Parts: sequence; structure tokens; C-alpha cells
Amino acid sequence: MGVFDQLGGEYEEVVFFHDPPTNLRAIVAIHSTTLGPALGGTRFYPFASEEEAVRDVLRLARGMTYKAAAAGLDLGGGKAVIIGDHKRIKSEELLRAYGRFIETLGGRYITAEDIGTDRTDMDIIRRETRYVTGVSPELGGSGDPSPVTARGVYLGMQACVEETWQEHTLEGRRVAVQGVGKVGYHLLKLLVEEGKASVVVSDMDVDAVARAVRDFHVDTADPDKIHAQECDIFAPCAMGGIIRDDTIPELKCRVVAGSANNQLERPEHGEALAAAGIVYAPDYVINAGGLINVADELQGYHPERATARVQSIYRTLRQIFHIARDRHISTSAAADAFAEERIGKIGRVRLYWVPGGRAWAKIWARNG
Ligand code: NAD
Repeated sequence: MGVFDQLGGEYEEVVFFHDPPTNLRAIVAIHSTTLGPALGGTRFYPFASEEEAVRDVLRLARGMTYKAAAAGLDLGGGKAVIIGDHKRIKSEELLRAYGRFIETLGGRYITAEDIGTDRTDMDIIRRETRYVTGVSPELGGSGDPSPVTARGVYLGMQACVEETWQEHTLEGRRVAVQGVGKVGYHLLKLLVEEGKASVVVSDMDVDAVARAVRDFHVDTADPDKIHAQECDIFAPCAMGGIIRDDTIPELKCRVVAGSANNQLERPEHGEALAAAGIVYAPDYVINAGGLINVADELQGYHPERATARVQSIYRTLRQIFHIARDRHISTSAAADAFAEERIGKIGRVRLYWVPGGRAWAKIWARNG
């Protein structure tokens, strides 16, 4: 299948960039800029083929459009990939060449960290372009997004508890957390210290489990069976694809709410959860705290403002649950509808011609 066929009439722009001396081969996919510049991370990964890299960047860029739209941000969706093993080929020269490439896009795409890239890389990219977030606090960056992401998940869980049990607190609820890495650990802290919930955790990394037990005296479970724990809420905070044909019949929870990206192996698993009477907090809605946090950098990072904006995750989920009930659709379908309707409504307003350009262009002018 050719690249144009893969775009399916849905993507605005796909750009390939090559810098032979550094072996930089990068692809930026801009899915939509209807709501604003396309923000999404740069994945530095040894893709098996160029086709796989294109497939991945397209899928991820589309996901960012929905995530930003549902989060109420004035941002579109985009993503970038750099093909190669970051441990072998990453260099200052390569990252700066990449930064100059991003600069040529004139702000239509804004990058951030993702798998294979980190804050130090963003700092280097920043030397060549303004269109980068997730830089160090000394450069006006927002720092580690994990605590804010965890806060968003915690608030999202409260919305799930209200939807399921018509209660306002997590006190006494049993929560099974899969993965106590950066987000999972912070979530655990909130659940135990603020929520007074009872928690069971699992992780492939024994040190991560030991830290959780030492700090919060939580119960532990076998990583293969954490999803099948008798609990109120199952919180996937590790890898994607945990909600699938073989795990759904084993779930013993009433709610699935966690930070992991792409929790549903396939879209129809959202329908299967609904059919099983399980309330699912759509992943890209409940884990948007990290995006809300980096997006705040575009206005000059303000931690209190970013944390306050994360409160919107609670309200958005309440709205999504309402849409799902009202239209007799799954919560995952309701989240897609919510995002698409916002893009449609705000996109229409943005058709008005404004002297001097769009609001975000002024923000750039102020902060650039
Ligand atoms: P992380 O790598 O710090 O933590 C993931 C943890 O999961 C690790 O401790 C790992 O050992 C564990 N793990 C892996 N496979 C497992 C399994 N089968 N069972 C149990 N544990 C397993 O990553 P993170 O930053 O905490 O992110 C967690 C998830 O949330 C990822 O899917 C990520 O894409 C998503 N997410 C993170 C952020 C953020 O701000 N960090 C934002 C949005 C989404």
C-alpha cells in the first residue's frame, strides 16, 4: 500500500526528513490542526521497516488529535518518529538536525518526548527550534509529567466511582494497580494517602513492587493475574492491549480506569466491557494529564494552572458517561463522539477570518 493510500483522506500532512551525515531519518505526521498546532512526542525506535514506521506515526498522530480534543486543548494531533536505535545513533548533531527540521514546519507541529527520547534530548532540540515542549524546568519546561498524569487518573477514578456506585469517595474501595512505575507509583500514593483505598499491585520489576510495599504497605499479586483480582477498580498502568478477548472474561471489577495507552486491544473491546457491565474510563481521556501539563508550557509553564486544568478530566469523564448512557453506546464510542463533536464545533468557529492570525500565533509571538 502506498503512503497516500494509508492516509485514507484523513491526514493533513506527512513529512519525511533525511540528514545522511547523522543518519537521521525522521517522519512527522500531522493528522489535524483544526483546533491548533499538532502536538505529539517523538518516538525514537528501531522500526523493522519504513512501512512499519509510517504505520505507527500515522496511528499515533490520529490518537493525539482525539486526546487533545477531548482534553479541551487548543491543539491538534501529530506525532513524529525517528527510525533507528537511539542507543546507537543518537547524537547532538542528529538531534539538532531534527530540531532544524521541526523549525521548518513553522509551528504546525510541536514535539515532545516519547519512547526513546527524554528531556535532555528536548533541551538539545530546543537549541534549534521553539516548537518543542517537555524541556527542563530551567528552560521553562514542565518537568516529569507522571505526578500530573497520576492526579488525572485519580480524579477520573472518582468520576467512575460516582457513575458506578453514586458515591463521592474512594474510601474502602479495592483497587488493583498493574504497573507501579512512574505513574503507577504516584497513583498508589494518592489512592492510599488521599483516597484511603485498599490497593493490590503487580509489576514485572521486583524492585518496583518492593518500593510500593515498603512505602505504602500494599498487597501484591502475580503480574499474570492482576487483572483477575477480586476488586472494584482495575487500573492498567503498564503496557497497552491488556483488555482483550482472553482477559475480559477474567475481570472481576466494576471499573477499568488507568494510565496505560491503548488499553483496548481492538476498538470492539470497548463494546465488550460495556456488555459485561464494566465502566471503562477511555484511556486517552483519563491519561491526558501529561499532555495537559506539557501543553501548559506553550503559555509559559505554570504548575498550579496545569494542575487546575487537570481537574477537567473529572468533568469530561462525567460528560462522556452521560453521552454513553443517553445514546446507549459504550464509553469508548462516547469518548470518540465527544472529541469529534468538539473538533466539529470549534473547527467551525475557527473558520472566521481574524486580523493578525490565530490566537496561538500571538502566544508564540509573546513567548518565542
Ligand atoms: P514506566 O515505564 O515508568 O512504568 C511502567 C511499569 O510497568 C514498569 O515498572 C514496568 O516494570 C511495569 N510493567 C511492564 N509490564 C508489566 C506487566 N505485564 N505487568 C505488570 N507491570 C508491568 O511508565 P509510566 O510512565 O509509568 O507509564 C505507564 C503507562 O502510562 C504507559 O502505558 C504510558 O504510555 C502511559 N502514560 C504515561 C504518562 C506519563 O506521564 N508518564 C502519560 C500518559 C500515559
